[in-house]
Amino acid sequence: MLRRSVLTGLLAAPICPICASLAQAAEGHISHWTYEGHEGPEHWGELSPEFKTCEVGKQQSPIDIDHSIHAGISEIKINWQSKIPLHIVNNGHTIQINCPPGSTVEHDGAKYILKQFHFHHPSEHLLDHKTFEMECHFVHLAEDGKSLTVLGVFITPGAANPVLGEVFKAMPKTAGEVKTETTIDMSALLPADKSRYFYEGSLTTPPCSEIVDWEVFRTPITASAEQIKTFVDIYPSDARPAQPLNRRMILDN
Ligand SMILES: [Zn+2]
Repeated sequence: MLRRSVLTGLLAAPICPICASLAQAAEGHISHWTYEGHEGPEHWGELSPEFKTCEVGKQQSPIDIDHSIHAGISEIKINWQSKIPLHIVNNGHTIQINCPPGSTVEHDGAKYILKQFHFHHPSEHLLDHKTFEMECHFVHLAEDGKSLTVLGVFITPGAANPVLGEVFKAMPKTAGEVKTETTIDMSALLPADKSRYFYEGSLTTPPCSEIVDWEVFRTPITASAEQIKTFVDIYPSDARPAQPLNRRMILDN
């Protein structure tokens, strides 16, 4: 029995430190960091040994996408459920919608499961040195739990987006969770033009783990100025500044 319980304990333990932090990051449980002041982005690497990569990493995100190589990157298959229940968490860093199992993306023969999506204001990625009003990140975890594919969608002021309207109407203004009866179709949060950039990077929040395949769509979606203001009233600034590209390549299709 002892042997069995030791084995059970081992299996229950995180497979690797990165998986533990990844799971925490995916669930938004890591705390004690901010977007300004003594615990702001320039200091993340000093706040905890687990956050060291934020400071010393060479493949950090976000970046300024100011040049790219046209390289025929493989297609990405987006297999999202057409309706998911609107479960929204204000986790103290952003507004996050937790997704039930069943939505995936596939590329290069690997499948990634959509865990959550969330928002940044202003955008974290830049396009030719240009910042967008907001950016939405769809976080997909690999089936082996060891890496992520994140789809980035810019949001610019324009026509109102009905799905963003539902999300922003229901989001908690202070830390906490709201489970609504509303269902949403996330495909309304993707641009019609699926042209995109691909590069290898990191989480844009501590622990800044370098385990993310980034897929950033070139064309923004729109939201009304009023919708954007609803988010900004809660999170005026939740974006990490652009990081050095170093020896990486940005590919496009
Ligand atoms: Zn993000």
